[in-house]
Amino acid sequence: MKKKTQLIHGGIPNDPHTGAVSVPIYQVSTYKQESVGNFKGYEYSRSGNPTRHALEELIKDLEGGKAGFAFGSGMAAITAVMMLFDSGDHVVLTDDVYGGTYRVMTKVLNRLGIESTFVDSSSMENIKKAIKPNTKALYIETPTNPLLKITDIKKAAALAKSHNLLTIVDNTFSTPYWQNPINQGADIVLHSATKYLGGHSDVVAGLVVVNSEKLAEELFFVQNSTGGVLGPQDSWLLIRGIKTLGLRMEEHEKNTRKIVEFLSTHPKVNKIYYPGLESHPNHEIAKQQASGFGGMVSFDVGSEENADRLLEGTKYFTLAESLGAVESLISVPARMTHASIPSDRRLELGITDGLVRISVGLEDAEDLIEDLNTALSK
Ligand SMILES: *Cc1c(COP(=O)(O)O)cnc(C)c1O
Repeated sequence: MKKKTQLIHGGIPNDPHTGAVSVPIYQVSTYKQESVGNFKGYEYSRSGNPTRHALEELIKDLEGGKAGFAFGSGMAAITAVMMLFDSGDHVVLTDDVYGGTYRVMTKVLNRLGIESTFVDSSSMENIKKAIKPNTKALYIETPTNPLLKITDIKKAAALAKSHNLLTIVDNTFSTPYWQNPINQGADIVLHSATKYLGGHSDVVAGLVVVNSEKLAEELFFVQNSTGGVLGPQDSWLLIRGIKTLGLRMEEHEKNTRKIVEFLSTHPKVNKIYYPGLESHPNHEIAKQQASGFGGMVSFDVGSEENADRLLEGTKYFTLAESLGAVESLISVPARMTHASIPSDRRLELGITDGLVRISVGLEDAEDLIEDLNTALSK
């Protein structure tokens, strides 16, 4: 089955009970048992709900794994995955991971004894150096947010495997439409489904796919024990969003190429971060491991004042956190998504005050370019 077909026919495409072509929203918490322990697959909606189950089967198929899990947010998904580890375990992570990931590792999970080290994972040497006797996993984000750095998934997963570590990939930016980390050796793939998978700025959700029965059993135990599950209404919204993921990603990509071309020639734009640019240091790896480069671009306009002028001047690029929706969004990572990272560490990473991030939406590219051009000229 090709990708666009799988988005529509993967998982459980029709309701097995009624034949409804759209899986219904099973707004229910508990299920009748014929006799004690004798029920039709569902006993209580924290443990399982038919709408959520349809979504979990769909993301499992899309990522090519053994089981899927839906959570109330991307952070709930990430936290549940980290609950696979014990006090005293150590995780190596990409240095410019999502700000919330950095925060939960360094302010919450550290209190439970889960240690973390952050390295530039585009270098295998850096990863190797960070591995300790108690390291249990390598957690990578590729491309990263907001600097669009690329890690070679195959090489990183092979390195992790040779040290008996699990490889976990946050695939939010690429989506399963462009990139399938499990096919490249990853053990666990996760998503903030709030972004491209939902795609319409109307749902907060997280998804995880694991590649073995053992991990499936362990993660189900965590999901059911800690309870951060996604509700049926939001599960339905995600299934609906995913049906058009292919069309949306193709259009995001087309618009982004045009915008990057425009930005490349603009005198007020200093540096552009986009893996689709041949000048990107890991352009070749990005091209090999993903079939598209996505709709996220960051660029430096030199100062906080210049960034503010740009943000205030755009009409179609809405100033907002988040990304991956039909609407184009613009943000300054230093003061928004990455504000929870201390300023000296931010500068170390290259997240300057003049760095602007855009999430290119599905408006007409000509309008978007004119919008940026007008705002940059102010
Ligand atoms: C948004 C985001 C998250 C967190 O997801 P929420 O749904 O906001 O909890 C994690 N990783 C990446 C890459 C993100 O962009």
